[in-house]
Amino acid sequence: MRLFLSITLFCLALLQASISIAMPKQSLVPGGIAVIELKRNDKQPNFNFQGKSVVIDQHDEKYRAIVGLPLSLRPGEYFIEGHWGNEKSLQKIFFRIKDKKYTTQSITIKDKRKVNPYAEDMDRILKEKKRKQKARQVYNQQRVDLNFLQPTPGIMTGSFGRRRVFNGQARRPHSGMDIAAPEGTPVLAPSAGVVVESGDFFFSGNLVYIHHGQGLVSLFAHLSQIDVNIGDKVSKGQVIGKVGATGRVTGPHLHWSLGLNRTWIDPALFLPEPQGN
Ligand code: ZN
Repeated sequence: MRLFLSITLFCLALLQASISIAMPKQSLVPGGIAVIELKRNDKQPNFNFQGKSVVIDQHDEKYRAIVGLPLSLRPGEYFIEGHWGNEKSLQKIFFRIKDKKYTTQSITIKDKRKVNPYAEDMDRILKEKKRKQKARQVYNQQRVDLNFLQPTPGIMTGSFGRRRVFNGQARRPHSGMDIAAPEGTPVLAPSAGVVVESGDFFFSGNLVYIHHGQGLVSLFAHLSQIDVNIGDKVSKGQVIGKVGATGRVTGPHLHWSLGLNRTWIDPALFLPEPQGN
């Protein structure tokens, strides 16, 4: 009995340790994030990076600023600026960005219309672009759960930031993570939030945007099925749809983009290291 109890206590201690590991992981490169410990905790901090509000995380009486670093940033010194509560004095906190070389990936898409859309597709594409921009700009002051779940089991390809060439033509870098999984595999909300956009889009296929709070937004694309509606509140781990191959794809997979302060960053930085192998 005593042994059983001490094993249980040991396991609980381990669990506690794994829960208290502070996520996300800092990566001071373009497409990464800066995690900045703030020195004061007596008033609510309000900070922005290049004019956009950053996520403020409160944990153990401490505040941290979580700053998304655009893929287009050049190496060098940057800063967040802001203030505490309604104090007038502006504070700047500096940090340095290193360079990161992203590889180039050539992809062959069978449906040529998805690479070179017809003139009649342009109306739809432009309307969808506006809806996507709006979905990325949602912001409120709500607290965010930064301990994310992997949204679907499968192999994470680590392809964030790759420069991409579709059928021989250069396109924008890959703005998310692809997880290879069979069609129909459930897709889970990696953290709680509100569905702010969903529908069948030209390039992304069936998509869902979830706002997790403070401008932290997930996009899930190429779904075979959507199981939520715009305005729905979702809890962490709730099924929001199924893996599919809709839109501009070579086969079934989940595309997951994660944005904060209106920039896409590598979602892997919000996930614990894969266990085993
Ligand atoms: Zn993708």
